[in-house]
Amino acid sequence: MPFTGIVGHRRLLSLLTRAIARGTLPPSLLLAGPRGIGKRMTATAIATTLNCLHPRPAGAFETDACGECQSCRRIARGVHPDVVVLEPEESGAIKIDQVRDVIDRANYRPFEGRRRAVIVDDADALVPQAQNALLKTLEEPPSATVFLLVSSMSDALLPTVRSRCRPLRLGELTSLEVAEILIRDHQYSEAEARAAAAEAGGSVGRALEARGVDIGEAREAAQRLLYQAARVSDPVRRLEAARELVGKISGGGSRERDHLAVRLRVLASLLRDLGLLAANAEALSLANADLRTDLNRLTDVFDGERTTRAFGAVDRALVALERNAGPKVVADWLALQI
Ligand SMILES: [Zn+2]
Repeated sequence: MPFTGIVGHRRLLSLLTRAIARGTLPPSLLLAGPRGIGKRMTATAIATTLNCLHPRPAGAFETDACGECQSCRRIARGVHPDVVVLEPEESGAIKIDQVRDVIDRANYRPFEGRRRAVIVDDADALVPQAQNALLKTLEEPPSATVFLLVSSMSDALLPTVRSRCRPLRLGELTSLEVAEILIRDHQYSEAEARAAAAEAGGSVGRALEARGVDIGEAREAAQRLLYQAARVSDPVRRLEAARELVGKISGGGSRERDHLAVRLRVLASLLRDLGLLAANAEALSLANADLRTDLNRLTDVFDGERTTRAFGAVDRALVALERNAGPKVVADWLALQI
């Protein structure tokens, strides 16, 4: 995909295209930032523009891929011999053999492109030995190869690897941008896209993860947990509410994790509203304005201070889930914190 096809991140993309046009792109980049915002797409746009047969300026971009030549089309189909993608295997890790194979290839000139691009997606999944193997190559990069590391948890990379890459931080998208992508690439209607984007915290990945999850049901489960937390201090009862929050989901660990993540974000949204109510904000600014009466009943227990603390706990729970903690453990922990 050319840079013009990417939604958002305008300033960063202009800088990148300028560096490509002027031949000053560093040999290794680390594209960091939250999940589902276009990091890998940006890495692919770099690889595509570097190898496009007819690159040309486009809008604010000093150069961009044409999107139509043979090279652009092969990269889009994932069959270009000089654009190599490394990503986690079934086990969730990127093993040393995968890295060695790529390093061997990086020592040869590109087969047909101008610049070989190695995209390491979920670079934080590289096992430590694989990171060390890669490190040697990053220290003395072959001139015709560019390394593009992509990660939503870049602090999990070895500091030595991080220090060898120029960091590029991509931020969350606006909800308008998320909605735009959902309509363009994922067949959402405008109304569906707007509703999904409002709950997605600036990430298309999150919006897609929530697809098919009943938000009404999620709101009820989140509300029940808040009521239990407000009324009873008995840990057993709270853990029951936690179990309900996890729910019964078939389809294995990652599906269960996505499901809980959606519910936790709904819980975060209710807590944000409670914080606003505690600060006497206007009803209009509430994300869950329809639940105002129910939420008001919670405000004597969930005052500003407790709400802030609970919000922080939900945030930590989401990070733990993203790092593959078990959904039940996370929900139990949270139920005792809020
Ligand atoms: Zn092209």
